[in-house]
Amino acid sequence: MKLEKEYALVGATLIDGNGDTPVKDTTVVVKNGVIQETGDRKSVRLEDRTQTIDMSGFYLMPGLIDSHVHFGGLKSDNPSSWATESEYLQAIRTVAEARKMMDYGFTTVRSGGGALRFDIYLKKAVEEGTIIGPRILACGLRLCRSGASEDPVGTVDGVEEIRKAIRKLMGQNVDHIKFVATGAGMSETDRLEDVHFSMEEMRMIMDESNMVGLKVMCHATNMRAIRAAVELGVNTIEHCQYTEGDDLDEELCKKMVEKNIFITPTLADHFNEPEPEKEIAKFLVNGWKRAMKNGVKILLGSDVWGDDITPYGKQNIAEIKLLVDILDMTPLQAITSATKFGAEACGISEKVGTIEKGKLADLLVVSEDPSSNIDILLNRENVKYIIKQGNLVVDRMNS
Ligand SMILES: [Zn+2]
Repeated sequence: MKLEKEYALVGATLIDGNGDTPVKDTTVVVKNGVIQETGDRKSVRLEDRTQTIDMSGFYLMPGLIDSHVHFGGLKSDNPSSWATESEYLQAIRTVAEARKMMDYGFTTVRSGGGALRFDIYLKKAVEEGTIIGPRILACGLRLCRSGASEDPVGTVDGVEEIRKAIRKLMGQNVDHIKFVATGAGMSETDRLEDVHFSMEEMRMIMDESNMVGLKVMCHATNMRAIRAAVELGVNTIEHCQYTEGDDLDEELCKKMVEKNIFITPTLADHFNEPEPEKEIAKFLVNGWKRAMKNGVKILLGSDVWGDDITPYGKQNIAEIKLLVDILDMTPLQAITSATKFGAEACGISEKVGTIEKGKLADLLVVSEDPSSNIDILLNRENVKYIIKQGNLVVDRMNS
């Protein structure tokens, strides 16, 4: 298929990302990458010049958003191999990682950073059209303290180092700041139950970020850090794990809603090698469900970091199925998490996340109904066309 500058997709069932009941037999008009109009086929009048494409029998939904990925560049099961392998080789591999995510329908991804700043340059290569990949929101180096997983690269200790690091990242045009408020379980001394920054340090992270309008993504794996993150008003809490008895209670959930704080539970993480869990602990699942019930928005975040353990594309899409299977979302709710909520969390909801007039045309044309069966999205062959900003980037119709 070849798309003109102005075209109309006619006859598809529209799943617009807002969580509403899908609408049959619609027309969506796109001009210069922007959605001009959406509506009932009969009510949308098309100009003669508009290219018309028959999409009868297909399902049209927004491009997916993964709110927690890493461009790892690793080709082994060792997350620390970043320190020993050539940075050039790692950087080249990230091009394929971006492509694989796109192939499963992810048109936007938010990076959780790393010890190396691949995301910043990959984003540029995508934007300039050199490579095909999802729209990337980059954070560059994630802020960790000394002795944590990425010591000695990108570590910050004390408020002055934090201030300087954030100002430098800002100069590298990052979209948000990521900080690791707790251990990450990468070594014996990098314990999930430890808090890694003082309140004073975390406050500096918030102050410096807020000053220049950068949102803050906070890795938190114990309740002390989660409470601090809520008090400080971070944008998203990543993993949001804690130990039994240390519940994510209703009062805390309500505070999250008040402050518009999102949770990215990174469910797929729990099933990664080398120590996959049989099932995620009940008290965690109950806590996330309690958050949902109280109105906290849950995000799709796959936490991919290396192809050998967390296969790019496959693990991203597996997360949407886990939202349904583990958090009991309906397929439609899971789609909303993976589109509209993701866009809100990334601060780009005026541009993407739903299929509405004035937004960029990030569209998936799917052969069967994912709003009644989420498994449809697990097989990428069911995603016949992937359109990013109006351009056809994947065409599987004749394959
Ligand atoms: Zn992560």
